[in-house]
Amino acid sequence: MKILVTGGAGYIGSHTCVELLNNGFEVVVYDNLSNSKEEALTRVKKITGKDLIFVKGDVLDVKALDKLFNEHKFDCVINFAGLKAVGESVKKPLEYYHNNITGAINLLEVMKKYECYNFIFSSSATVYGDPEVVPVDENSKIGGTTNPYGTTKLFIEQILKDLHYAEPKFNIAILRYFNPIGAHPTGLIGEDPNGIPNNLAPYITQVMIGKREKLTIFGNDYETPDGTCIRDYIHVCDLAYGHVCALRKLLENPGLVIYNLGTGTGSSVFDVLHAFEKAYGKEIPYVIGNRRAGDIAVNFTKVDKALNEINFKAKYDINDMARDQWNWQAKNQNGYEN
Ligand code: NAD
Ligand code: UDP
Repeated sequence: MKILVTGGAGYIGSHTCVELLNNGFEVVVYDNLSNSKEEALTRVKKITGKDLIFVKGDVLDVKALDKLFNEHKFDCVINFAGLKAVGESVKKPLEYYHNNITGAINLLEVMKKYECYNFIFSSSATVYGDPEVVPVDENSKIGGTTNPYGTTKLFIEQILKDLHYAEPKFNIAILRYFNPIGAHPTGLIGEDPNGIPNNLAPYITQVMIGKREKLTIFGNDYETPDGTCIRDYIHVCDLAYGHVCALRKLLENPGLVIYNLGTGTGSSVFDVLHAFEKAYGKEIPYVIGNRRAGDIAVNFTKVDKALNEINFKAKYDINDMARDQWNWQAKNQNGYEN
């Protein structure tokens, strides 16, 4: 079975390629490398001992997509291609709406033309906005996103629901990721952010290697036990395997399905920091700063639906995530540019 993985050279995409190859799927990666390096794919091959096809290209390029589908018969498309920096999306909304939404529409159109009807979409916990009740589940209210990035996810979800209504032949899995962190246990692939990391875990590991002086914790006056925000961190390898579970489900023709992918456990910023300190064997310097605009106090998920319907259960905990992300960072101080 041949799977098209758009954005497959990126953080979650590269880990998903490992899981797909290890589970016997053929993989074609299509990525414009705007936020990734081809080296990640060389390392995917090294980890798995298996080959994959890489095509450099943009999901905005309709002609190139047509050529790709003309050359390969895909059984499913997993769409990771997208821009994901929350702050940047506030400054460049048109770029975000165009890249993420037009990119997804282009893919769906070419899939229709070439009669490929299985689609997996990378959505996000951000679609729940600031939830009234936690843990959330797949039926919790969505909306109230606080930035254009989050709104692209919300809009694409709606487009997929409308498409499925009009064209029930499509099988669509909307996967709402909670907070992926960690790296492959080999330390060969991991997250390689450009510039100053926006996210907590890569920021912490850059402090650990001395690239940044200290972590700023964005607020310790939230209504949580230690005053810092709570999230549902999930090991990227667990998340990657979740795509294999969703793919197997799509092969049963389920129509449109939605799954939250998390661990079901909420961890505070201090919990994450302490897990990294455990992996490091030393304290990590931090200061308490102001709250970050748009942050919500608490979000984590119920895991029953993913467990019952696709047999997905995360196996790694926060200490495993910290250990593996530190291992990756220590071995690749400049990411893939070593
Ligand atoms: P990433 O930036 O590492 O990967 C995205 C990949 O898409 C990159 O390799 C990039 O080069 C590629 N890409 C971007 N625009 C493209 C285009 N127009 N054409 C072709 N390729 C393009 O990000 P990631 O963390 O691996 O995230 C993957 C997906 O999961 C994204 O859609 C993201 O929004 C979503 N997601 C990520 C998180 C997270 O915390 N990392 C959480 C929820 C959802
Ligand atoms: N955070 C922080 N300092 C940082 C980066 C993040 O205190 O340098 C906090 C942030 O306020 C949030 C949590 O860490 O409570 C996770 O943030 P991240 O950006 O990784 O993910 P988000 O949940 O916002 O998608």
